[in-house]
Amino acid sequence: MTAAPRRLESHVCGRWIAGTGEGQLLRDAATGAPVAEVDATGLDFAAALDYGRRTGGAKLRAMSFHDRAAMLKALGLHLMEQKEALYAESLHTGATRADGWIDIEGGIGTMLTFASKGRRELPNTRVLTDGDVEPLSRDNSFSAQHILTPLRGVAVHINAFNFPVWGMLEKIAPTLLAGVPCIVKPASQTAYLTELCVRQIIASGILPEGALQLICGSVGDLLDHVTGQDAVTFTGSAATGRKLKAHPAVVANAVRFTMEADSLNAAILGPDAAPGTPEFDLFVKEVAREMTAKAGQKCTAIRRVMAPRAHVEPLIEALRERLGKVLPGLPGEEATRMGALASLDQRQEVRERIAELKAGAEIVAGNPDEVRLASGDAQAGAFLNPVLMYCARPFEAGAVHDVEAFGPVSTVMPYDDLEEAVELAQMGKGSLVSSVFTDDPKVAEEMVLGLAPFHGRVLIGNRASAKSSTGHGSPLAPLVHGGPGRAGGGEEMGGMRGVKHYMQRTAVQGTPRLLSAVTGRWIEGAEAQQGIHPFRKSLAELAIGDQIVTAAREVTQEDVEHFAHFTGDTFYAHMDSAAAKANPFFDDRVAHGYLIASFAAGLFVDPAPGPVLANYGVDNLRFLTPVYFGDTLQVRLTCKEINPRANAEHGEVRWDCQVTNQSGEVVAQYDVLTMVAKTWPPVAE
Ligand code: NDP
Repeated sequence: MTAAPRRLESHVCGRWIAGTGEGQLLRDAATGAPVAEVDATGLDFAAALDYGRRTGGAKLRAMSFHDRAAMLKALGLHLMEQKEALYAESLHTGATRADGWIDIEGGIGTMLTFASKGRRELPNTRVLTDGDVEPLSRDNSFSAQHILTPLRGVAVHINAFNFPVWGMLEKIAPTLLAGVPCIVKPASQTAYLTELCVRQIIASGILPEGALQLICGSVGDLLDHVTGQDAVTFTGSAATGRKLKAHPAVVANAVRFTMEADSLNAAILGPDAAPGTPEFDLFVKEVAREMTAKAGQKCTAIRRVMAPRAHVEPLIEALRERLGKVLPGLPGEEATRMGALASLDQRQEVRERIAELKAGAEIVAGNPDEVRLASGDAQAGAFLNPVLMYCARPFEAGAVHDVEAFGPVSTVMPYDDLEEAVELAQMGKGSLVSSVFTDDPKVAEEMVLGLAPFHGRVLIGNRASAKSSTGHGSPLAPLVHGGPGRAGGGEEMGGMRGVKHYMQRTAVQGTPRLLSAVTGRWIEGAEAQQGIHPFRKSLAELAIGDQIVTAAREVTQEDVEHFAHFTGDTFYAHMDSAAAKANPFFDDRVAHGYLIASFAAGLFVDPAPGPVLANYGVDNLRFLTPVYFGDTLQVRLTCKEINPRANAEHGEVRWDCQVTNQSGEVVAQYDVLTMVAKTWPPVAE
């Protein structure tokens, strides 16, 4: 007896709830067996939005970036422990273990990357500063600082069927890190896998209440209720995307709308990459891999393959041979190298798209209507063999640049020179990614500059990166994912750029003291307090604006010559008066910049053991005025930013360091970065 299909539930307003409608039956992609029923009838979507804004948003905003990064890390590790359950469920989507790895561990890895980058690259505050302070008055009484604060709404993520886990995690990670709650709406076809993952997340108790809600089924009237503080992201077909982007409430409220739709990604074989070169072999491998991974159902998969006319035939031959060895089969069987499409409907859709492509291209490998399998049932499962097409006149054939067959389908086309190759790639009207396989720097330069305006990502493949390359089809958490034009015009991830998509940038103008209070960062012109040396203060005692102004020290010729010989830096500007005078920047011999920085440290440090544990670098070091023999230096060191580290006995302190000469001119300006103990003396264990 087969078990009754699981009734999927949505998680809204803090509870799991089933729809009241009949539900749509979801079948296993490879066997056709019923898996689940999905329905969201009767859900109160306006209440879900309200709940997210009021409950989840408030809780997330009360946390600092580091708190949220720690939360994402805990969540990622929790999901990693539970991954086998996700892999088991993933088989129903037609995904092999390797496909599942991209979705499941790729998604968890993305979340962990956001956690670690958030911890390292964002301050431990609730507001981000953006760019430098802009002084707006001569006397420093009026300045401006751009800041970023989390939107007060909810991010609604409407996802595609092909990556039920990654598609959710790559979006909620930056959103939650920004401090914005999410409502995830997975594509119905594979919603059971997303639902399982959300159950794991909710059960962990790691997220604050209301931070994540899930809608399994149609989103009903949800979009009617979005406001200018909400954001909507969409991944799926261009037709649906356009419809949602034009939704009256989205338009009327200028709701941020990020779209990722069809993308006819190109891979270009460089003119130098003739058969027999490592680049040719890598190219063949990459095209075949992109056609067969996830059965070609990847937004980044290679749809168009451009090759120098002379290499087209050997390329098709090599691809035909390689693809011929890949027989689809049941995804759970170890020998299977390619699984099934998501559903029989999806297979039918791909077949129809292939028919459209035939208007300008011929099939040179694979038969879309005749399924050859390694295992499984060709009628019950949504299997399709890889189909390679050839388009002899790509400048005349519109379909190859317009029709996305979302399956194991690619079209090879010839080009005669680099300009043509770039033009063909551009005919995709904007794509997520394209790749160029070449070992020639000139080809790389010309191609990338031509491709970049039309793409969110460009990969250069060659022999040197063969082993380390992450490949054409892998969006990575630190890199931008999205593309202009036809690809939707959206941008996701890109490291901390992705976090800022859910924040509002505001220029704040005011007096430095109050700007400093807003940002939690000391700003030039803000009050500072002097007294006990700040190096004697632990994080518990230290405050923004704690400052020391040091004694002055003269720089002598002996100092400079001693430093020159001691370090070996006997550059003429320090040692040779005539040569220094001939230099347009100097009137005579000058002190080394590093000598100035070293003397500065000698002036500002407090040498006895204390709470300052280490100096781990300097930022933005600039030498602004030459220092001549006989000049005197003085340092003003001000505590600029304090970042206590979670789960550690110390934190990071950024100091504003300004070195001036006897005339008050700034000779050097930089930030000193130190590790400081939270308490001093350390509390005995
Ligand atoms: P759809 O555009 O139909 O669906 C995408 C998402 O939008 C799903 O979650 C879907 O939910 C939801 N949706 C559909 N209609 C509405 C609506 N009126 N209001 C709110 N949400 C809605 O695309 P599919 O996932 O079915 O994929 C179809 C094609 O899209 C593929 O064949 C492929 O060409 C392309 N695609 C492109 C991707 C890319 O990143 N480039 C990724 C995936 C697909 P539901 O499932 O419940 O209808």
